[in-house]
Amino acid sequence: MTKFLFSLVFLVSISLSAQQLKSPSEFLGYELGTQFTRHHEVVDYYEYLAETASDRVQLTVYGQTNERRPLILAYVSSAENLANLETIRQEHLKDTEGTGNSSKAIVWLSYNVHGNESVSTEASMKTIYELLTKKSSYLENTVVIMDPCINPDGRDRYSNWYNQYKNTPYQVDPNSKEHHEGWWSGRSNHYMFDLNRDWAWLTQVESQQRLKMFNQWLPHIHVDFHEQGVNNPYYFAPAAEPYHEVITDFQRDFQVTLGRNHAKYFDANGWFYFTKEVFDLLYPSYGDTYPIYNGSIGMTYEQGGSGRAGLGVITAIGDTLTLKDRIAHHFTTGLSTVEVSSKNAEKLNAEFRKFHQNKEFKYQSYVLKGDKDKLDALKSLLDKHNIEYGDLTSGSYRGHNYGTGSSGSISINKNGMVVSTDQPKGTLVKVLFEPSAKLSDSLTYDITAWSLPYAYGLDAVASTSSVSVQNVQETITSSNISNGSYAYLTDWNSMDDARFLAALLKEGIRVRKADHPFTIEGKSFERGTLIITKGDNENKEGFISMVQTIATKFQKDITSTNTGFVDSGKDFGSSSIQMITKPKIAVLSGGPTSTLRFGEIWHFFEQQLHYPLTVIDDDYANRVDLNEYNILVLPGGRYGNHFNEDQLSKLKDWVRQGGKIIAMGGSIDALDGEKGFGIEKKKMEKDSGDNKPQPYKDWERERIKGAITGAIFKTKVDNSNPLAYGYGSDYFSLKLGSNAYKYLDSGNAVYLEKNSKPFSGFAGTEAQKRISETLVFGVENYGRGQVIYMVDNPLFRGFWENGKLFFANALFMVD
Ligand SMILES: [Zn+2]
Repeated sequence: MTKFLFSLVFLVSISLSAQQLKSPSEFLGYELGTQFTRHHEVVDYYEYLAETASDRVQLTVYGQTNERRPLILAYVSSAENLANLETIRQEHLKDTEGTGNSSKAIVWLSYNVHGNESVSTEASMKTIYELLTKKSSYLENTVVIMDPCINPDGRDRYSNWYNQYKNTPYQVDPNSKEHHEGWWSGRSNHYMFDLNRDWAWLTQVESQQRLKMFNQWLPHIHVDFHEQGVNNPYYFAPAAEPYHEVITDFQRDFQVTLGRNHAKYFDANGWFYFTKEVFDLLYPSYGDTYPIYNGSIGMTYEQGGSGRAGLGVITAIGDTLTLKDRIAHHFTTGLSTVEVSSKNAEKLNAEFRKFHQNKEFKYQSYVLKGDKDKLDALKSLLDKHNIEYGDLTSGSYRGHNYGTGSSGSISINKNGMVVSTDQPKGTLVKVLFEPSAKLSDSLTYDITAWSLPYAYGLDAVASTSSVSVQNVQETITSSNISNGSYAYLTDWNSMDDARFLAALLKEGIRVRKADHPFTIEGKSFERGTLIITKGDNENKEGFISMVQTIATKFQKDITSTNTGFVDSGKDFGSSSIQMITKPKIAVLSGGPTSTLRFGEIWHFFEQQLHYPLTVIDDDYANRVDLNEYNILVLPGGRYGNHFNEDQLSKLKDWVRQGGKIIAMGGSIDALDGEKGFGIEKKKMEKDSGDNKPQPYKDWERERIKGAITGAIFKTKVDNSNPLAYGYGSDYFSLKLGSNAYKYLDSGNAVYLEKNSKPFSGFAGTEAQKRISETLVFGVENYGRGQVIYMVDNPLFRGFWENGKLFFANALFMVD
């Protein structure tokens, strides 16, 4: 009896506290699903829960977006678990080294990485409320970590836009404005980057700050909530092929376990769904694959809806899809995920330990060498991933040679490093470094090659044996420049050098460049060497100390000379030692440009090069006087014949008078052939014998013959061309499609030779023929100006580090 009474009191107190906790609708003052909740309101609700149910919800602000919105995580678990949260975390992390004894399931739910897939954040509020009330039993052995919005800038861009344009009551007719978001859409973040392509490259502040938290937890389960087209049924795990070969049987199987549980609820409600299609597990920079390569079960869930759906919309089959429906589906899979995890906590823990013990990879060590700036750039990425590495100063190493694509060796006499797979992040090391990912199927959602030695422009071998680290004394670059010298010289071969130049130009310091190699006072210098003379800067107050400060900031090694008289090459007073123009730059946005391609350029200028740009929208570009600018950048996109006769003739006049166009990707089509510039598109040829009719069922396979889904090619470089200063005789380019242009009459700085095969990744047979003997990067001299063509995209997703100097060359070296 006493016992019974006690239980009764206990029950009453629980249900009381549940009653006291306000649901999202009660808290927000409107029924969830009838409005889009803005980010600050979402944060308010989470803060409210953390205050009211402080024993079961803890909130962390883990960072801030570009537009100063807070990034938050909520830890949700039983009071007992939350009181021991740090112990649980540490015990769990010990499992990566085989010494832990963890028993709790760790589930991480990430919402709204794509801002206009706007249901997710709404669903997160309903989910956390349910976990704290009706489903609190799941939390006894489970810690749920919830990120209600990975991309608040994008999401608020969408919700604010929707609130401005919606009808009242909302209009379900898909033709209405509220279903047509326009160019500046909310999918991406402030810089128009897709955060669901950024987990591995970490170019964006949201990803960088989030990954620090992720690495503190390495959850068993990670779900990334998305939306797809309005007419699609719901998608959940198991994912489609191809799966990366490192994905374990358990990781595959558990996706099925989860999928079956979700299906149970969807079946009961009569909701449509699909699995095993479209969304594959290969490219490592997604919110599903990246966690998988860190030992999680990573998954993408996709609701039909996104920026087209608003509060309600008529679908193709005539049904009305409402925000409330969309919430119900994401809410169901979220809870079902926690339920399955809680039921399988023991198994999840055992398998997580196993994942981190089985590291039998073909290549044990990746040995790299190259320019110190490039090695430093790679090290800075590895640091963000908690990937360990060591230095190498000498020795010869055998293995698969990245430069030749076959076995061979490299010798190191300084500036070397090694990354081993024998470390907690070993699987991730394999995925990011291996020369090529094994493809079980070429039909994939994204690029098929990303190997870091290529991306960072480093010589490398993949070795089957374990290479031991050598200890090096950190050599400190001396940037001491002597007062009163005739000139100051520094090399040009990395993004650090470009940043250094940009900083000098912004300070109004005049800099020249060498268009020929030279030697002076016994030292040799290559093309592109920066020459800062006293004579040019005589009237610049504080010149020496400015150069000193900037050189120290960028750790530049500066050579001071007391003469302009070279041993070989051109004297510094020669008319061929040209002054670098401090360019005024305009970048086209909107209209025909792709938001992502535009964003990469925007981010490059502001966050990588630190140099100002003027953004000119296509809407009013006609009314802008181009003569105020030296350079016009046309981001990739769908241009076709976007410029009319009048616009083309204006552009041509401007270039003739000395203007410089940087035409990237699809923008080249707006200039090619008959439009009066020297670039010409190359057509696709069919495979021979393919003229016979193909069965309909094979159309997808047929189509892929003409496709390149992000593959790495070895290209030839003419490094006497200013567009290629600082590069060697070849360059590994990430080719993103089969669009191809013939060689220019002259000025082919980077190009593909005959019969180029991918070094890594997939390229269809017809696509390979098409790109044979075509241009990659080139300069057409046109009157007093230039058109620079970039067929491949050196700024793609901000991660192809070794391509960025081409873009800097286009800005500063080509004239
Ligand atoms: Zn998405």
